[in-house]
Amino acid sequence: MDCLFCKIIDGEIPSTKVYEDEYVYGFKDIEPIAPVHYLLVPKTHISGANEITAENSEVIAKIFEAAAKIAKKEGFENGFRIINNCGDDAGQTVKHLHFHLLAGVKMGWGKESLGKCE
Ligand code: 5GP
Ligand code: ZN
Repeated sequence: MDCLFCKIIDGEIPSTKVYEDEYVYGFKDIEPIAPVHYLLVPKTHISGANEITAENSEVIAKIFEAAAKIAKKEGFENGFRIINNCGDDAGQTVKHLHFHLLAGVKMGWGKESLGKCE
């Protein structure tokens, strides 16, 4: 399958790994919008949050477990944010389910701050 993140998981395209277990691969976003900007992806191909079903949803729990582990290990004591963009309106550019893990900065919230990180 011609999928960028499947290729990154397979090591066909290089990435800076920050986390890996049986279900989840974590790597640095190539264009960070915060001091810490990681992507957490399921190792199995799911095209987006709209394709989560009773059969494949276990990996979502694994991704959030991974995020909490990373946050403890790397000391995000002031907090972090997890974002999923699903579909064109939300700006999903890679059609392999991924969660952005952002930390290391005080982030804005609300209508004006959508898509920005201050
Ligand atoms: P989306 O816009 O789909 O929510 O997020 C896709 C993310 O993937 C973007 O933040 C973008 O910077 C990141 N990205 C795109 N191509 C690559 C790549 O080849 N390597 C890495 N590490 N990140 C990528
Ligand atoms: Zn994929």
